[in-house]
Amino acid sequence: MKDYQRIGLERIKILMQMCRKYPDKAKRYTYLAKKLSMKTGLPIPREYKRWICKNCGEYLIPGKNCTVRLKNKLRIVTCKACGKIKRFNYANK
Ligand SMILES: [Zn+2]
Repeated sequence: MKDYQRIGLERIKILMQMCRKYPDKAKRYTYLAKKLSMKTGLPIPREYKRWICKNCGEYLIPGKNCTVRLKNKLRIVTCKACGKIKRFNYANK
């Protein structure tokens, strides 16, 4: 991993933590994180990426701006801001 990539990843992580602290500015932070990941060519870490709405870029916090339902080994996350539904399998981690 190159120097600029390590710094980029660090910044992405910080941005994601900021999303949790300041949910009203989360859209801005996820936008910056996406741009960073494009610039550095690194993916946003999985544990954060699954909480970003692909449609509107909102950072999803269960019970606040998204609903989480478990069904047939799928985790279904609905974004309350735009209504987009995300599904993922939690059976194999
Ligand atoms: Zn959304």
